[in-house]
Amino acid sequence: MRVFKFGGASVKDAEGVRNVVEVLKKVGHKDTLIIVSAMGKTTNALELVVDHYFNQPEELSNAILELKQFHLQIVEALFGPLSEPMNTRVGELVSELKSFFKHNKSTNYSFVYDQVVGFGELLSTSIINAYLNQVDIPCEWLDARKCVKTDAYYRDANLDWELTQKTINAQVSKNKLVISQGFIGSDDNNFTTTLGREGSDYTAAIFAYALNAESVTIWKDVPGVLNGDPRVFENTKLLNQISYTEAIELAFYGASVIHPKTLQPLQRKEIPLYVRSFLNPEGAGTSVSKGKTLEPHIPCYILKPKQVLIRLSSLDFSFMVEDNISEVFALLYQYQMRVDLIQNSAISFSVCVNNKYDRLEELLQILRSKFKVTVFENVDLYTVRHFDTEALTTIEAKKDKILLEQRAQETIQYVVEQ
Ligand code: ASP
Repeated sequence: MRVFKFGGASVKDAEGVRNVVEVLKKVGHKDTLIIVSAMGKTTNALELVVDHYFNQPEELSNAILELKQFHLQIVEALFGPLSEPMNTRVGELVSELKSFFKHNKSTNYSFVYDQVVGFGELLSTSIINAYLNQVDIPCEWLDARKCVKTDAYYRDANLDWELTQKTINAQVSKNKLVISQGFIGSDDNNFTTTLGREGSDYTAAIFAYALNAESVTIWKDVPGVLNGDPRVFENTKLLNQISYTEAIELAFYGASVIHPKTLQPLQRKEIPLYVRSFLNPEGAGTSVSKGKTLEPHIPCYILKPKQVLIRLSSLDFSFMVEDNISEVFALLYQYQMRVDLIQNSAISFSVCVNNKYDRLEELLQILRSKFKVTVFENVDLYTVRHFDTEALTTIEAKKDKILLEQRAQETIQYVVEQ
């Protein structure tokens, strides 16, 4: 079996859905499972719905209506005057969402979030499934929540691998084209859970692992994995082959093309991952698989914007060693700061962090009571893997603004002031 994943950008409108059909016709769809995300920016719109429910209830019904209209307009463009029964199906899903809000008693934001945002994937897969069947590509709709079983850590649920493997094998019809949702699963009580933003790639990997699939293909709007984000870096080039380990390293440093959790299950079973363009399905794209580390072997550039550099030194000029560094790490963990880079000298310790949960001020307050603290907010963290002399010259040009630089055998990282 092959697993395909289509992200939100590939199905952002009726044109996108028609293009999915074109891709399937070109590359074949025998024994294929397709995992689809919510259409376009629907997940963001649903996040806003959740926010309104808690903070601006007067805006709630309007936001839901907009969401409904967005999907109905795609349905109309796809099915024309024959929009039934799809119109009704969209209406049913939206009523289910409204009914959740009406009956919900929970004040747990993350729980509510998970019951709500998954509707994006339910809507998209229902519409695409109906369209595939209409254009004579018989397809079966599968509820991912019956397959992907997780704990109740809402918004970032952890997989129960044993159970998930069993349920997937029991639920997925072999020898058929099957469509299911990325991003969502369910807990022991059958409440919907989500795997974290951008989690649909991970879903594709979970299904592939359980089904011993021959490959996973992620269809994107770029030709494959490039050696840098083309929106940030010039003259980027396509990488033909990346080893699992290298891809995990790149994802760790912030390359956003592949969701980091996706690679581990695939690596365990050596299932190749292809990243290909839905605009040019015949292009070879990138293969992440066992084999060469990187082909072509060129520098890879990664930018993590909006990071925070914190410089600490002891108040009494004593050494920054094990005891104070371990204390700093405990605090970073407690305040959910994702550490990107560390550097220490005898009396100072620098750490570059991602303030993802907006808890910097709380953390700084504590740090200031214990250390001398200097903070640089909104800094850029650049990473270059497999750097060469040309890469070093580019870095040299930024010298005046570099706050910190760190070099290892394969990787150079530098923090730059805005
Ligand atoms: N729809 C979800 C999101 O936008 C999951 C995904 O697209 O991967 O994060």
